[in-house]
Parts: sequence; C-alpha cells; structure tokens
Amino acid sequence: TPRTSRNFIQQIIDADRARNPDTVVHTRFPPEPNGYLHIGHAKSICLNFGLSQEYNGKFNLRFDDTNPTKEEQEYVDSIIDDVRWLGGEWEDRLFFASDYFDQLYEWAVQLVKAGKAYVCDLNAEEMREYRGTLTEPGKNSPYRERTVEENLDLFQRMKAGEFEDGSRTLRAKIDMASPNLNLRDPVMYRVKHAHHHRTGDKWCIYPSYDYTHGQSDSIEGITHSICTLEFENHRPLYDWFLEKLDVHRPRQIEFARLNLSYAVMSKRKLLQLVQEKHVAGWDDPRMLTIRGLRRRGYTPEAMRAFCERIGVAKFNSTIDMAWLEDAIREDLNERAPRRMAVLRPLRVVLTNVQPSSSHTCHLANHPQKPDFGTRDVTMSREIFIEADDFMEDAPKKFFRLKPGGAVRLRGAGIAVCDEVVKDADGNAVELKCSFNPDTTATHDGKKVKGTIHWVDAGEAIEAQVRLYDHLFAVESPDDAPEGGTFLDNLNPNSLEIVTAKVEPALAEASAGESFQFERLGYFVVDSVDSLPNKPVFNRTVTLRDTWGK
Ligand code: ATP
Ligand code: MG
Ligand code: MG
Repeated sequence: TPRTSRNFIQQIIDADRARNPDTVVHTRFPPEPNGYLHIGHAKSICLNFGLSQEYNGKFNLRFDDTNPTKEEQEYVDSIIDDVRWLGGEWEDRLFFASDYFDQLYEWAVQLVKAGKAYVCDLNAEEMREYRGTLTEPGKNSPYRERTVEENLDLFQRMKAGEFEDGSRTLRAKIDMASPNLNLRDPVMYRVKHAHHHRTGDKWCIYPSYDYTHGQSDSIEGITHSICTLEFENHRPLYDWFLEKLDVHRPRQIEFARLNLSYAVMSKRKLLQLVQEKHVAGWDDPRMLTIRGLRRRGYTPEAMRAFCERIGVAKFNSTIDMAWLEDAIREDLNERAPRRMAVLRPLRVVLTNVQPSSSHTCHLANHPQKPDFGTRDVTMSREIFIEADDFMEDAPKKFFRLKPGGAVRLRGAGIAVCDEVVKDADGNAVELKCSFNPDTTATHDGKKVKGTIHWVDAGEAIEAQVRLYDHLFAVESPDDAPEGGTFLDNLNPNSLEIVTAKVEPALAEASAGESFQFERLGYFVVDSVDSLPNKPVFNRTVTLRDTWGK
C-alpha cells in the first residue's frame, strides 16, 4: 500500500515503528463466546489479522470469557471455525482470558496492598446512586477507607465463597469526582457462584471486562489493541491498571464499528430473531452472521474484499448493503460456473422437432474462461422457459418472446412463437414455437435481439430454490416505528420458495458449490437441506442490484 493511502491505524503503527524499529506488531481478536460472530466481527478479524500479516507480526485469538452465565462451549467452537474460515491464522496463539484468572487475582491483591483497590459492600443499586452522573460528581463509598488488612481479608473471603452473589465487590480506588464515569471506582471483581465452561467451580468471583481486557493484552504482549469506539472513554482505565501494575502497556486504538443498511448487528437482536423464530436459526441465509453468510454462499475472499474496501473510520456511519453484495457478485463472477435453471417454468413445444429426436448443445461453463470447459445440454421437442420471458401484449422494446416474435435460445437456436395455449382463465400455459438451430438466422429480415435461458423438459430435474432478499424492509431497521420494535421492520418477502427446473448437470452439485444461473443470479447448494442428487439452492445475490427498483 502506498504511504499516502494509509488508514489512521496504519499511520499510528507506522509512527510507533519509526520510533521503535524492533516492534513486532502483535494484534488480537477478542470475542466473548456468548453468541455467533456477525459481519461486524468479520471486520474486526480482517482488520486485526490483516495488520499482523502486513507488518509480518503476530495475531492471537483470545476468548474474553469472564462472564460464566452467558458463555458456552458451543459458541467457542463456532467462533474458532468461523475465524478459520475467514482466513485468520493464530497457529498456537489461541488463548482464554480465563487462563489468566490466577494472575489477575494476584494482581488484584497487589493493588489492594498498594491501597489502590478496596472491598465495597454497596449493592448494585446503591453503587449506581453513589456513582453520580455526567453532570454531577459521585460520592465516595462508605467502605472506601477500609484498611489494607481488612480489604485483603475480605477479598480473600470473597474468593473463598463466604459471601453471596452481589453482596460485595472489589473496586479500583481512583476518583469518584472524575468527569469520566469509568474512573469512578470501577468494579474489578464480582461475587458470582456460577459454573464456568472452562474453570468449572474453581472460582466464585469473576473479574470485570475492564479489569480483564488490558491485562490480558499485556500478558500476551499485544502491541496494538484495536477496539470499537464505545471503548474510547474506557482507555484511561485500561491505561490506569497497566500503569499501576507496572506491566507491558499495549496501545489501545478505537475505530468505528461496522453498521450496514437493512441489517441489525447487535447480538441481542440477532438472538431475539432466532429465539422468536423470525429466521430458521443462527445460520439462516438471511442472517448477517458469518454462519448465515456462509450458508448464503458468501466466500471468505468476498468478505475480505468487502472489509478491505470499506476501510476503517474514526466516526460511526452506515455502509450500504450494496457494497457487500457487489463484493460477492464480483468474486462469484470469477469463480462460479454457468448453468441454466428456470425458476417459474412455462412449457414450450418446438413443433417442428420430432418427438423422438434431440440435439446436443455444447455450452461454455464460463463465457470468459475457456479453462472452465464446456458441457453438453440436450434439447428436444419440449423445453421450459421462464414465464416472464414471454409477454402476450408486449411493448415494442420487449426483446424476449411474444406472439409472432422470435428469441434466441441460449446455445441452441431461434424460436418463433406461433401459438399461445391458454387455460380457462386466459393465462398462457404453453407456447407452440418453431425452432431453427441456426443461431445466426434472422426473423422478418431482422436480427434476433433477445437471448433467453431454457431447460429441456425431459431431462431437467426439479429443485427447490430459495429466493432470499433483505431480512429488513427499511434501511435502518433499528429505528423502530412509534411504539414498535425493530421487528416491525422485518421484510415480509425476505424468502420466496419456488420449485425450479434445472439442467441435469446440477443434480450432482455438492453442498457449498456455487453457480451462476444464467440471467438470474448466483446460487449455492444449501449445506443443510440438500440431499444426494437432490440439491436445494439458495440465492446468494441477483446479477444486478435490483433492490428498490
Ligand atoms: P455485539 O455488540 O454485537 O454483542 P460485542 O462487541 O459485544 O458485539 P464481542 O464478542 O465482545 O462482541 O466482540 C469481539 C470483537 O469484535 C471486539 O473487539 C469488538 O469491538 C469487535 N466488534 C463487534 N462488533 C463489531 C462491529 N459491528 N464492527 C467492528 N467490530 C466489531
Ligand atoms: Mg464485547
Ligand atoms: Mg455485546
């Protein structure tokens, strides 16, 4: 990357390295294992891992597992899998904050001994009252002046399990009048008699996020601790602990979290969508979880390209969903073989083709890439075309099929519509056409303009195709209507299921394989519901951005 286009994080790191040329840039991704990763996390992974790569440094995956009641092994496993899928590599640098519980406890004792921490008996509500507000200073806790001996004794007994949940905390002794509320004697430890997914029942006191995060970064030798903007005013506290403990001090850098239009990003809301069954699960292809995006047919390459393109910002903003869709479109345009599928079939009888005869079309698997090879597709007397490729009262500019009109059948020849067969309601149910295998043929002395896709009626197989659209109908789903919630903004048409007719080559497609269905979009074989020889397809994205048009 040329120096001139360095983002602000790269500029900070460049400057640090100019001052200390020996710096080995060391970043980390620190998820809490309390849910599945979403695209916002992907941004953080790509950023942190990307920097470690760029500077030839190191990257850690660290679970911030300090809250035993919300965390589960299931989430740990899925996060590991998702980070790996995205391309993040941590080699042997997989860590858990819970591995540091002993060290964190020792350090807490050290702060107590130095008169920098005390045991407080205020309950949560009292603590809130004493805390003050942005405009009013807080009040000192009545327990703030306990002696070191008393604090050591009480803290030790907190650890030994003598006290009930919520009855006592260990707090840092900083400044109840600080304009920064995070510095008003923040909680370091809470009593919580809860089983931890890794440490079991060893602990009944658990360290807070603020007390854990910086020290974990420090233990691991992280040089640049990158987090989202909401932690900006936690930075003085991050620095305070490290300074008082006199240990390695990583630099915390904040960037704007990723927000996307037509999406919600908070784990709480994603969980609600799953629990209330507005979607089929965490991996529903409409969910912007990494699982959902994978199942939707997104590739790691497209996700990384997207993250790279949106860059890093210092101020919050919302990225247009179209950026994400463009990224996968561009990637699949390169890598997805072409196939023909008809989503809403209309039968066409080619009247001059003999019932017993058929001819073979050699179709390119990729128009620009000969190395993708060709495949043979059979054409016989009956085929299906897309119902909306025929129009009875067509405007002049309609270059598909209309009564008396001609259209090119991709890779096969030219069909002229001689007759429309209708049902009792007047709907076209079948077309009778004459066929000319000469693709250069003219009609009424004119070049045939339109080309449509088709499948052979005898050979085509049926496949379920799921046409996904945005889960939310409005750009900012978090802006709930008066008296409502974000759920009122759900898009009622985010999923349409059709039974399509697809060319036989698609029967053998395997889970996760992507194709371009010509003229329709990119589709992936669903990894959950497909059966051998019975693929189910998910629409990843349409060929063009059609939203709102
Ligand atoms: P959520 O608010 O969705 O629950 P979180 O921040 O609580 O997310 P963590 O597991 O703590 O979830 O996040 C791990 C890392 O991912 C953190 O460093 C966090 O800053 C980053 N991260 C989370 N959401 C986003 C986002 N939308 N954009 C960029 N980074 C994010
Ligand atoms: Mg968090
Ligand atoms: Mg959160």
